[in-house]
Amino acid sequence: MENGCDNEKWKFRGNEELNAASISVRGVLNLLMHNIDPHHPRPTIMLGRGDPTDFPSYRITPSAVDAVVDCVRSFCFNSYSPTVGIHSARSAIAKYLSQDLPYQLSPDDVYLTAGCTQAIEIVISALARPGANILLPRPGYPQYEARAAFDRLEVRHFDLIPERDWEVDLDSVEALVDDNTAAIVIINPSNPCGNVFKYQHLKKIAETARKLGIFVISDEVYGHLVVGSNPFVPMGELASIVPVLTLGSISKRWLVPGWRLGWIVTNDPNEILKKTGIVESIKNYLDISPDPVTFIQGAIPQILEKTNKDFFSNILSIMRETAEMLYDRVKEIPCLTCPQKPEGSMVALVKLNLLLLENISSDLDFCLKLAKEESLIILPGVAVGLKNWLRITFAVEPPTFEDALGRLKAFCDRHAIKQ
Ligand SMILES: *Cc1c(COP(=O)(O)O)cnc(C)c1O
Repeated sequence: MENGCDNEKWKFRGNEELNAASISVRGVLNLLMHNIDPHHPRPTIMLGRGDPTDFPSYRITPSAVDAVVDCVRSFCFNSYSPTVGIHSARSAIAKYLSQDLPYQLSPDDVYLTAGCTQAIEIVISALARPGANILLPRPGYPQYEARAAFDRLEVRHFDLIPERDWEVDLDSVEALVDDNTAAIVIINPSNPCGNVFKYQHLKKIAETARKLGIFVISDEVYGHLVVGSNPFVPMGELASIVPVLTLGSISKRWLVPGWRLGWIVTNDPNEILKKTGIVESIKNYLDISPDPVTFIQGAIPQILEKTNKDFFSNILSIMRETAEMLYDRVKEIPCLTCPQKPEGSMVALVKLNLLLLENISSDLDFCLKLAKEESLIILPGVAVGLKNWLRITFAVEPPTFEDALGRLKAFCDRHAIKQ
C-alpha cells in the first residue's frame, strides 16, 4: 500500500470469516504475554492455559515414554497410517472407553485425530452444509466458534447457569432449535466452568436432544479429571436415547498435549449417525486430512493399558489440593466470587465485581494490568464468551499456586475502591 499499490485491481482477499472470528485463547494469551514486564523481579506464573507439563509433578510416566521409544525403534511405524487410524490403537481406545459404558464399542467406532482439536475441526466440517446450525455452550471453548465461522456453520448459543452448578439452560435450548439444527455440544468435565455434570442432568440433555431430533457432541477431553464428588459419566451411557459423538484425546489426562493424539467415537447403537450420513462425512474428511503421527498411534495400546493407577491418583490429589486453595483463597478477595468449588477439568471460572475496583474497566483490562504488575497470567472471561469473569487454571504445583493467589489478592487489594 505504501508505494501506491492500489487494492482495487486485485481479486483476492484474506478470509474475512476467519479474521472476524479470530478471538482465540492463544491470541488473548499472546496479548497478555506482551504485557509482562521482562524486568519484573518475580518469575511469571501462567494460570492462563490447561497445559501444566512444565511442572515436574505433572509429568507422564516412564512407561508411556518407553512405549513411544519402542515404537520408533521397531521401524514398524514409519509408514502412513490408515486414514481412520491403525487398528491396534482404535481397538485399545474402544476397550478403554467401554470400561465406563453399558455396552462394548467396536474398533470401527473409533476415528483417530491429531488431538481433540482436529476432532472438533472434523465434526464441525462434517455438519457444515449450507443453512445448517449448531448449538454451542456459553461460556465455552472458543475453538468451536472459530472453526464454525471458518466453515460458515451458523452458531446458536445456549447458556450455562452458574447458580445451578453450570447446568445447561434446557429451556433456552428448545427455543433455539429449528429444522436446520444438527447437534448440541457439551463439554464435560467443563472447560471453562470446572463443573462435572450429574447423570440426571445428562439424561435430561439426552431426552431434550431426542425430542428435538438433534444429536449430542460430547467433548470429554477432561474425562476422569475429577476432583469433586460428582463422578464422571460419559455421555455415551445415554446413547440408546440419543446418538452421541464423543471427542477426546490423551492431551489432558495423560498430560501430553504435544503428542497430538485424539479421537472421535460414535456411540450409536441404533446406527442413526450412519444412516444420516454423518459417519460418511467424517470418513471423507479423514481421507483428505493429515493423520496423527503413526508411532504415537502405535504406542496407544501400551499407554492406555500400562499407565499405572498411581499416576492418575497422584495428579488428582495435587489438583484436589489446588482446587480447594482456589475456592478458599478467593473467598478472602472481595471483588471475586467462585460460585462452586471446582469439580473437574483443570480450570474454573471466578466472577469479577468491577464496582469494587478503581480504574479497571473490564476483565481484559484487569488481566492486562495483572500481567504487568504481578507477572501473573489469567485468562479474561471474554475469551471464553463470558465478560467480566476470569478463568483460572488450577493444574499447577501447590507452592506456585499459593504464590499466584497471593499476587492476585495483593493486586485486588491495591486496586480496591477506597471508602
Ligand atoms: C484442550 C481442549 C481441547 C483440545 O485438545 P487437544 O487434544 O490438545 O487438541 C478440546 N476441547 C477442550 C474443551 C479442551 O480444553
